[in-house]
Amino acid sequence: MTHPFLYQRATSIDDAARRLSEPGAMSLGGGTDLLVAIAEEISLPDVLVDLRTIPDSTGVRALGNGSIRIGASTRVSELAADPLVYDTFPTLAQACDVVGTPALRHMGTIGGNLCQRPRCWYFRRGIPCLKNGGTTCAVDGENQYLAILDNGPCHIVHPSDPAVALTALDAVIEITSQAGRREVPIGDFYTLPSERLDQETVLARGEFVSAIVLPAASAGGAQHYRKLMQRDAWDFALVSIAGCRRADGDVRIVLGGVAPRPWRVNTSIEEDVASGGLDDDTIATLAERALYDAKPLSKNGYKVELAASLLRDTISQLA
Ligand SMILES: Cc1cc2nc3c(=O)[nH]c(=O)nc-3n(C[C@H](O)[C@H](O)[C@H](O)COP(=O)(O)OP(=O)(O)OC[C@H]3O[C@@H](n4cnc5c(N)ncnc54)[C@H](O)[C@@H]3O)c2cc1C
Repeated sequence: MTHPFLYQRATSIDDAARRLSEPGAMSLGGGTDLLVAIAEEISLPDVLVDLRTIPDSTGVRALGNGSIRIGASTRVSELAADPLVYDTFPTLAQACDVVGTPALRHMGTIGGNLCQRPRCWYFRRGIPCLKNGGTTCAVDGENQYLAILDNGPCHIVHPSDPAVALTALDAVIEITSQAGRREVPIGDFYTLPSERLDQETVLARGEFVSAIVLPAASAGGAQHYRKLMQRDAWDFALVSIAGCRRADGDVRIVLGGVAPRPWRVNTSIEEDVASGGLDDDTIATLAERALYDAKPLSKNGYKVELAASLLRDTISQLA
């Protein structure tokens, strides 16, 4: 029998914070991941607090200084089509447009997408791996989709496409709880398995994502998101890349599908790309240098090749 839980609609941001401060309460977005996680018994909440019913929790708002604020309950499909996002932060629109299926994009919220649990099939199927309370990672088994960077002791891969684009855009995550509101740069929002195994974000109990802010400095310039998938549709990324050359000339390059969190390349490489005028040999060397720390497992060496190829294309476009 599926684990029983109560369903509650939050009527305001304060009401959500109050309900989520109760033990056993969890945030609910579109439920496309959470309801499956409950069925898989990796999440066992007593109460689901629906955040979509908070007034003003959806939509994209220009803040007047060139930055924008995205409500956490905004649907992924709305972000893919939003004219302001599409024109000003295209890497995010492109990343949202390749999330899963049309139905998932329509039901899924950006807050839920950023906080979805990893897809490692050992974890999701209740195998007693490290994340399920066991003593070893199942890393010697079917490891073809696992991480090649920042990996160990557990080798999960971060699953969200929009998170990769948002990292390249220097997004700030607005977090709310009964204690008030705090803002965390997305680069500090995700934790590594070497830091903790029970969750993947810095959210404390009772905290939820209320909005995402994109700074004006990341608007415009040259931006793109590319995603390589096994089936070429309706699938998580094997490897993806978000690349931005900002209007001020700074470069951001972030890989997805390779690490337990969106993986930003070393800033010295971004600076070399920003300096421009690179020939093919230099581009290939930079791509190789970016992946110097990769530690592929027995069946996922192909990810190093895919990442190198995406890096070469992106560097050549941004340089
Ligand atoms: C077959 C399949 C393919 C998919 N492919 C992709 C893909 O290619 N790319 C991709 O990016 N995603 C993919 N997904 C993931 C999908 O996009 C997510 O399920 C969805 O975005 C989650 O959003 P949601 O609103 O339904 O979250 P929910 O299922 O409601 O919640 C997910 C998690 O986030 C927490 N949560 C929800 N909202 C908040 C909040 N505001 N603050 C804090 N925590 C919150 C919940 O407690 C839960 O732990 C795929 C999913 C499936 C099932």
